[in-house]
Amino acid sequence: MPELPEVENIVRRLRRPLIGRTITAVQVYWPRTIARPSIDAFSQQLTGLRIRAIDRRAKYLVFELGTRPTPAAYLLIHLKMSGQLDVVSRERPIDKHDRVIFDLSGGRQLRFNDMRKFGRMYLVEAIEAVTAQLGPEPLSDEFTLSVFRRLIAGRTGRLKSLLLDQRFIAGVGNIYADEALWLARLHPLRRADSLSDAEVRALYRGIRAALNDGIRHNGATFDRVYRSGEYEFRVYGRAGQPCRRCKRPIHKIAVGQRGTHFCAHCQRLKG
Ligand SMILES: [Zn+2]
Repeated sequence: MPELPEVENIVRRLRRPLIGRTITAVQVYWPRTIARPSIDAFSQQLTGLRIRAIDRRAKYLVFELGTRPTPAAYLLIHLKMSGQLDVVSRERPIDKHDRVIFDLSGGRQLRFNDMRKFGRMYLVEAIEAVTAQLGPEPLSDEFTLSVFRRLIAGRTGRLKSLLLDQRFIAGVGNIYADEALWLARLHPLRRADSLSDAEVRALYRGIRAALNDGIRHNGATFDRVYRSGEYEFRVYGRAGQPCRRCKRPIHKIAVGQRGTHFCAHCQRLKG
């Protein structure tokens, strides 16, 4: 599943071909992709709207739509396991996994292709209608060390589970959680309330460093669908291979049914 860095890169790639275009028609081939409103309302309300801006909130792409100074609506897209967005020529044959196709002024189309069909779209008047439950953006200026200290204070969960909790911090998934913990030299099973102040600081820095590094390298390549990035994993997917710090083999365990990679030497459970 794409995480914050991968979604950020998709947003950056889509801005140039899409901003300023008007949506002239919408075809929905897989009804369940449209989470809200109804499919008819979705197509009707989108038609005639101009794409004014494209941003990201957590793992959602956020399209700001409208013609007047105040936005008329927001289209939020969550790619989930296999969703992909491409701007293509109208002449290109439709793929059997194309779920939604947006006709654009200028003659091209934005196509949402989603082999596994978990991707979802929301057309709403306010972004918060979808994202209200999400925690802070870990790369925003507002997400300071003191904000993170307050967030983690009183939490008792295991670090890996906590990092995956989107209400705690938004946008970190299985890959960048493992990467952040390795950078911070913290064992994924450590309880959040066992951390010293220096360890909290290391975790804060590890989260931001892992995500920033992912963005800098255009995200990670981790399956057949998402193979654009050049981000090099520190621990994720490297079970049995040498730790990039101490050369001892990387371990893999399950935490809450998620494969979790770490170095038992660099990331001690105690002390
Ligand atoms: Zn190591």
